Amino acid sequence: MKVLCILYDDPKGGMPKNYPLAELPKLTGYPDGQTLPTPENIDFNPGELLGCVSGELGLRKFLEENGHELVVTSDKDGDNCEANHHIKDADVVISQPFFPFYLTREKIDSAKNLKLAITAGIGSDHVDLQAAMDNNIDVFEVTYCNSRSVAEHIVMMILSLVRDYHNQHRIVNEGGWNIADAVQRSYDVEGMHIGTVAAGRIGLDALRKMKPFDVHLHYFDRHRLPESIEKELNLTFHETVESMVAVCDVVTINCPLHPETENLFDTELINKMKKGAYIVNTARGKICNREAIASALKSGQLSGYAGDVWFPQPAPNDHIWRTMPNHGMTPHTSGTSLSAQTRYAAGVREILECFMGNKEVRNEYTIVKDGKLAGTGAHSYSEGSATSGSEEAQKYKKM
Ligand code: NDP
Repeated sequence: MKVLCILYDDPKGGMPKNYPLAELPKLTGYPDGQTLPTPENIDFNPGELLGCVSGELGLRKFLEENGHELVVTSDKDGDNCEANHHIKDADVVISQPFFPFYLTREKIDSAKNLKLAITAGIGSDHVDLQAAMDNNIDVFEVTYCNSRSVAEHIVMMILSLVRDYHNQHRIVNEGGWNIADAVQRSYDVEGMHIGTVAAGRIGLDALRKMKPFDVHLHYFDRHRLPESIEKELNLTFHETVESMVAVCDVVTINCPLHPETENLFDTELINKMKKGAYIVNTARGKICNREAIASALKSGQLSGYAGDVWFPQPAPNDHIWRTMPNHGMTPHTSGTSLSAQTRYAAGVREILECFMGNKEVRNEYTIVKDGKLAGTGAHSYSEGSATSGSEEAQKYKKM
């Protein structure tokens, strides 16, 4: 069996010789009772860099000892890239949302042996799910592995946007001390109305984490949360996204990208938001219209925009979100902290062990199975594809 694994580049200075922390805190499970990844074994040290090419998700020993071939590359964009060459005879492809190998219908059609597409993380929108269904390719992701990592990032981004941290940090780095410059856009979040589009694993955790800031919490989702949770968090449910964005000072976006959510935040919806609101989007870049966000920041309809997701990825060097005013963007990092890497690497190993041992992969990791959306996929995604336009990723030039 040939396994093709597309991972992000190593650090420019080479793999770290040591890490800030000697060990990771021990976690016992996820809040809803789901267990952490449970592979039979792992061949890596938790807390090490695993998501880059030399990290290899800790898979080489395991795969080679079992007689399989592992190809790891970061060369994933453009017609002649290494990944396009190897996909033609790969049985399994592993890719990550942070540095996605866009598995378009064309690539799926060229992959005659492909049986399995694994997402080392959460969010399989970089796979043309419709083409995967049509070609009987199963798709799995490591549900929950980094949901709480993202929720932490959301809290950080809400606070840093509203308090205008980026501007204040820049003033210090530039050697300045003009307090008035530093605070002219700085507010407290206390008392604000904060709403999430989707209250799944990330959205709900972000609401829970924001609760101690004494804010008013809102959500919009296709399914309503249990009444006990609404009571616990004093949540306001909205039947429509329009109703929620009209009253919120901060909107955080936490739904998957699929045909229903693509381009959801266009000029029309942004104009229905409370004037001067903030958006934090750690879900997927394509849920927000690129130009509409940039022009709303310019006009003041939005006071700030932060997140870590772009379209495509890597974002072209001239992507307008790199230079628009009052943004707090990071590259796609929230779900790939060293802590999260340990969980998604273990989850990928668990999925491979099941596949190789002819055992069922967990239902919660399942997105597409036997030609249909299934498991978590049937609950959270819709049929179709959201990969169009991904070829623009080849415009990115390494700095
Ligand atoms: P979950 O599956 O737990 O939650 C997704 C939620 O989105 C579900 O509650 C689902 O609703 C809801 N939803 C789906 N479609 C719609 C819609 N059209 N309108 C409103 N709500 C909708 O996933 P997670 O919370 O773990 O992750 C969510 C997304 O976050 C991922 O799909 C991924 O895109 C992104 N993500 C980003 C990461 C990063 O590093 N930045 C890392 C991890 C995830 P219901 O089930 O009720 O239909």
